[in-house]
Amino acid sequence: MADKFYEDMTVDELRAEYEEIQRRIETSDPDEDQKGWKQELKILKKAAERRGIYFGESPWAEIERYLQAAEQDMKSLEALDTQKKTFVCENCGKSISVESRIYEKTYRGEKYCLDCRHMHGGRREGAGRPSLGVTRKVSITLPEEYWEVIEDDRGDMKLSAYLRELIIGKMDEIL
Ligand SMILES: [Zn+2]
Repeated sequence: MADKFYEDMTVDELRAEYEEIQRRIETSDPDEDQKGWKQELKILKKAAERRGIYFGESPWAEIERYLQAAEQDMKSLEALDTQKKTFVCENCGKSISVESRIYEKTYRGEKYCLDCRHMHGGRREGAGRPSLGVTRKVSITLPEEYWEVIEDDRGDMKLSAYLRELIIGKMDEIL
């Protein structure tokens, strides 16, 4: 069918034809007629688009979605900014985002997160983490995919803090 045929159709006729072709694509033999119907559908859509008629999604819909998502992101960032504060623990490097009310009460003027404060206040047997220790510089070689998992997992934590947690966790199991 030539696309002239589609250009003379009303919108309703086009839509009916569009649906008919789709039905034929679904019911036709993939080895025989289906290709031809798919081709036909393309011709119809092109002819319709030239008239500003879009079947399925308009090309603007994706852009609109993108803009809406960006606007939403901006709003939630602004909301976070006014409502939340971030505290970074000087011991374990953990970064904690809390409401300003909680920040004022629990974190203002403090150096350590609650976990680490606990340990400073007297470490009980077998519990908690040693807060400080001896620093040694090491280079670690690991397969690339291990580093990828570590990068994904550590979030805001410093690499050294993250590895320290891993090692201490393991040592707690052994010791
Ligand atoms: Zn901490």
